[in-house]
Amino acid sequence: MPESPTAAPETAAPETASPKTAAPETASPTTVVEDWLARFDTALQSRDIDGALALFADDCYWRDFVSFTWNLKTLEGKADIRRMLDVTLDDVAPHSWTLSEPATGDAASAEAWVTFETGQARGYAHLRLNDGLCWTLLTTMQELKGFEEKKGRNRDQGVSHEITKGRTSWLEKKTAREASLGYEEQPYCVIVGGGQGGIGLAARMRRLGVPTIVIEKNAKAGDSWRNRYKSLHLHDPVWYDHLPYLKFPEDWPVFASKDKIGDWLEHYTSIMELNYWSSTECTKATFDEAAGEWVVEVVRDGTPVTLRPKQLVFALGVSGYPNTPVFEGAASFLGEQHHSSKHAGGGDYAGKKAVVIGSNNSAHDICADLWEHGAEVTMVQRSSTHIARSDALMDLALGGLYSEQALANGVTTEKADLLFASLPYRILPAAQISVYEQMAERDADFYSKLTAVGFDLDFGTDGSGLFLKYLRRGSGYYIDVGASQLLIDGRVAVKAGQVERITPDSVVLADGTELEADLIVYATGYGSMNGWLADLVSPEVADQVGRCWGYGSDTPKDPGPWEGELRNMWKPTNVPQLWIHGGNLHQSRHYSNYLALQIKARMEGLNTPVYELQESHYTR
Ligand SMILES: Cc1cc2nc3c(=O)[nH]c(=O)nc-3n(C[C@H](O)[C@H](O)[C@H](O)COP(=O)(O)OP(=O)(O)OC[C@H]3O[C@@H](n4cnc5c(N)ncnc54)[C@H](O)[C@@H]3O)c2cc1C
Repeated sequence: MPESPTAAPETAAPETASPKTAAPETASPTTVVEDWLARFDTALQSRDIDGALALFADDCYWRDFVSFTWNLKTLEGKADIRRMLDVTLDDVAPHSWTLSEPATGDAASAEAWVTFETGQARGYAHLRLNDGLCWTLLTTMQELKGFEEKKGRNRDQGVSHEITKGRTSWLEKKTAREASLGYEEQPYCVIVGGGQGGIGLAARMRRLGVPTIVIEKNAKAGDSWRNRYKSLHLHDPVWYDHLPYLKFPEDWPVFASKDKIGDWLEHYTSIMELNYWSSTECTKATFDEAAGEWVVEVVRDGTPVTLRPKQLVFALGVSGYPNTPVFEGAASFLGEQHHSSKHAGGGDYAGKKAVVIGSNNSAHDICADLWEHGAEVTMVQRSSTHIARSDALMDLALGGLYSEQALANGVTTEKADLLFASLPYRILPAAQISVYEQMAERDADFYSKLTAVGFDLDFGTDGSGLFLKYLRRGSGYYIDVGASQLLIDGRVAVKAGQVERITPDSVVLADGTELEADLIVYATGYGSMNGWLADLVSPEVADQVGRCWGYGSDTPKDPGPWEGELRNMWKPTNVPQLWIHGGNLHQSRHYSNYLALQIKARMEGLNTPVYELQESHYTR
């Protein structure tokens, strides 16, 4: 069983194979895949949907990123696939399914990378066959024909070698372009929010020649990281964190500090020549039906400017506004109280009593920061929390895909992203459960010490651990980078329970425990992303879009119905020309590719029929 999240759940493999397609045991995986691809190609080209379906196992999944569906969609089982092919096949006109490198595995269980084409695009796919029949297929659009990025052999010359009078330099052209865009000339796309998400997406848009402006209210690119508490380092390792196109240098630390990431983002923005309007706040966006475009009001360095893009992307972060519960008596508190997002860190807390309400990532980091700076700290844990130790996470969950070893094994960042995506969300938990079982065993001593001090531990409702919690609810975990030991040692106290009220100098819990406090930090998370839309566009539009994030797993904080892809992320929403982008560095890097292609296709007037635009679920 591979160590990576791509590990296939043993129970999910189909038990029977069609005698017509079952591969002889002696055949190489490459022969088996080539045979499958030839049949698949023939079936699709002749629009023989029955023939194509015969190549799939009964238990099968086809996940498509844009190439067939102009959507992000997972089709589960043959009936779903049939419905999709019925609707899309003529338009998509797929062909030329070709193995891009030798397949791996064996005749009974083969895995392969595949290139293919559609009428409009070139794609890259990942295929898993069991006994010659498809179990999982991931198809992704990689480039639009005729609108390829100008790179490699197609890169720009940069300068004309014909000497003429009045030639303009690169800098003059760039300055003129920057002065004109947003004033004399309107951008095709506006991205509101210039954190890592907005920046990475803008880089892809620039490569594709989509005139785009990024609106960011902070003074400098990277400030969304710089403004966080001083001890913060990325919790994810460097191999997972690259931005599109430009990888971190090889000596970049495994866990970069937030200021180093801030500096990288700032330089990236400049090197990638993004139209990045810092110190600019978006105050309102409305859709002009008659013109078919957005009217985006921004205040740039204090001056109002109106932008009229065709496409509007919100990249304001996966979390909405800080969620600060209003406890009875909070207004009477005489000390300092603030949400975790306002906790700058550092400072002299010698002799101060601090109560941190919450037990996820921010709560742990802030408890550690306060302890380091002399405070007597108590963490109030209101619900169970998943803890994954950073080194265990790297060894067991990420290492197969994102590590030096993975690179040495030929798993590039791009391949790792696709492998990660190749297991649809229906079957991903089964693959993850075994990873977290290993983790529980490996760190059994650590976990028992943690529970011994009263910490309420979980591994997710189904034991599937951190990444699934992140996808489902975006909360409920801590990647342990040291704070758990403070709890184990009793250097930071932990008290499980609900806050009942706050007095002028304490936090009182439901069981009557009174925790004296000079400082209260509410590490209580963030609201829904819809809050941004309600404020900047309208409550009606926010409701029309519906819930963002979560895939309908029907687990805590991710109510059904099942959607199978993250709600409203990187794909068409129920509001035309409005898109949502974000996620961690890995997701922003990977999914910005598909979002950029969808927008580029619309700019070029290509036919982009969206297959089964998902319903909106839940309002704010
Ligand atoms: C403590 C902590 C640790 C984390 N560790 C990691 C990690 O290790 N790896 C990782 O990938 N992620 C990590 N994250 C998550 C991280 O916050 C997100 O991955 C990241 O910030 C998302 O980037 P984004 O661009 O989507 O959003 P943000 O970085 O939040 O960017 C949104 C931007 O929108 C701007 N904005 C908001 N409103 C407006 C407006 N009206 N007009 C103009 N601009 C506006 C904001 O100023 C902000 O810069 C961590 C988060 C926290 C809190």
